Amino acid sequence: MISPLMPTYNRADLAFERGEGAWLYTADGRRFLDFGAGIATSSLGHGHPGLVAAIAEQAARVMHVSNLYRVPQAERLAERLVAHSFADSVFFCNSGAEANEGMVKMMRRAQAAAGRPERTRILCFDGAFHGRTLAMLSATGNEKYLSGFGERAPGFDHVPFNNMNAVRDAIGPHTAGIMVEPIQGESGVNVGTTRFLRELREAADEYGVLLGFDEVQCGMGRTGRLFAHEWANIAPDVMSTAKGIGGGFPLGAILATEAVAAPLTPGSHGTTFGGNPLACTAGNAVLDVLLQPGFLAGVERKGQKLREALDALAARHPAVLDGVRGQGLMLGLRSRVPVAELQAAAMREEMLTVTAGDNVLRLVPPLVLTDEDCEEAVNRLDRAARALADVRPMAAAS
Ligand SMILES: *Cc1c(COP(=O)(O)O)cnc(C)c1O
Repeated sequence: MISPLMPTYNRADLAFERGEGAWLYTADGRRFLDFGAGIATSSLGHGHPGLVAAIAEQAARVMHVSNLYRVPQAERLAERLVAHSFADSVFFCNSGAEANEGMVKMMRRAQAAAGRPERTRILCFDGAFHGRTLAMLSATGNEKYLSGFGERAPGFDHVPFNNMNAVRDAIGPHTAGIMVEPIQGESGVNVGTTRFLRELREAADEYGVLLGFDEVQCGMGRTGRLFAHEWANIAPDVMSTAKGIGGGFPLGAILATEAVAAPLTPGSHGTTFGGNPLACTAGNAVLDVLLQPGFLAGVERKGQKLREALDALAARHPAVLDGVRGQGLMLGLRSRVPVAELQAAAMREEMLTVTAGDNVLRLVPPLVLTDEDCEEAVNRLDRAARALADVRPMAAAS
């Protein structure tokens, strides 16, 4: 018989009762080091006093009013995101998929407003992940997620990631925009090279198409910059972000230049919950931490330190591990054994991780983790890898 909670996930038999920083506690007192952070979402970790107090206070005042009225918390969050990014204007919504849907609508609408209504197609990349709505399944293009859900939504083309020749060949008279993750998360923590991102910007300008970044996972401080594309010193025309922006409270955002945002006139796009006082209070509390002097530099430093330790770990366990990839605190550890086995071995060491494509173990801890948390993570992964090497000596053959 089907479970009352619809079984769309293979859930680990673990339930957490409370958390503190990078640690989660079960009711029976076990303590897990959380390097999954709710899939790169609990950016301030668990039980962050500032975030908790802000949400509790706002919840008691007013949670939701609708976008028929001014929402000062949303105005403030938008002003701050504009002040710290390429964007001139921000639309708030509730999730990554919803942000990406809005981003695609904006790119099409901006082309139409510029007198090019035939430009509707969006160029996407192999290995992309943009969410689970019908249109974003098509933008994602992964057969595994599309199967059984009917025809693909039209308008999305795919080319190989980090391949500029393919991009230039695929841009046509009907291309409205390019949608790309500066770092692909889901398919294995694949970093878009600086050169690739810069050349995407050049090609977009040359062909009159819009450049849209999906920073749902790699944005909001994850890489040690507020947004990952800042590493390449270029700016998109429009960008989606979500996951970490609310520190675990559901919130998404589309950031855009005036040229892209302005055609979205009153009534042309909407959302009931998006940008409500409670969600935007959470967003402001997260930003309070991210914008503290030195905080993002600390993320960069911790990321580098963790990366060096993981490189050494991979070198110590060549039969089990096959190198490290990623940027800041968005790291991937490629496994030589099936990655689910590596994840399970880490879980036996009471450490939580997320798997990704290409047999990669994703390490996306809370941005507030301490140096001791990092060291503890490496120790636990070391024990996990050793346990696997002991039971699978044959893996050395690969
Ligand atoms: C998680 C993710 C999404 C989808 O976000 P949801 O909040 O699950 O809808 C989209 N794009 C990227 C890059 C993601 O990592």
